[in-house]
Amino acid sequence: MEKITYEKEYLARRELVLWGKELYTQGLVKGSGGNLSIRLDDNTVLFTPTGFFLGHMTEECISKCDMEGKVLDGEQPTKEVPLHLAVYRTRPNIRAVCHTHSIYAVTYASSVEPGTIMPVCTPSLAAKVGLVEIKGYAHPGSIELGQLVEEGLARANAVLLANHGVVAVGKHMEAAVSAANEVENNAMLLALGTSFIHPLCKEDVEHLIKKVSL
Ligand SMILES: [Zn+2]
Repeated sequence: MEKITYEKEYLARRELVLWGKELYTQGLVKGSGGNLSIRLDDNTVLFTPTGFFLGHMTEECISKCDMEGKVLDGEQPTKEVPLHLAVYRTRPNIRAVCHTHSIYAVTYASSVEPGTIMPVCTPSLAAKVGLVEIKGYAHPGSIELGQLVEEGLARANAVLLANHGVVAVGKHMEAAVSAANEVENNAMLLALGTSFIHPLCKEDVEHLIKKVSL
């Protein structure tokens, strides 16, 4: 990976602040819930800090850590560091992670069996994110949760965590936030459509997921 320049790090901090505001405005994160990270190089990751509202951050409060989660600079990072680091260890081309507790996604993930796949209602979910698996509950911040996330993201750009939320990833933060949005929108359609919505058929989904960029 290329060297971290001051400009590159500043732009990444700026992105975390801007996308934090965007998620907060959209209602995908509320209170101090949710967290974001951007990988700067093989051994350096910027995280949103613990206890902060994502809509009210500044570039200075961002936390810089190494791949073991040791703080190099800034505030204490989110408690979900293990979950983010698990993504960066297993998906080398991923540069951004977006974790939300968005309402419809959590509702869906907490009402179905772990190990199942969320039915696909929109082509954009299949083409951008792939097949989203529901993983069972593990405590926030635990290594076990990191392992579940790792498994769920092996072949898709998002995973649903029962009684918790969404982890969405991308080659940049816009793609990760977009994936989190796709999951939330699809979960909303499933909730609003309940028994009468028709998900896309298997053949259409199989055609669309060939477009997913992992
Ligand atoms: Zn969480």
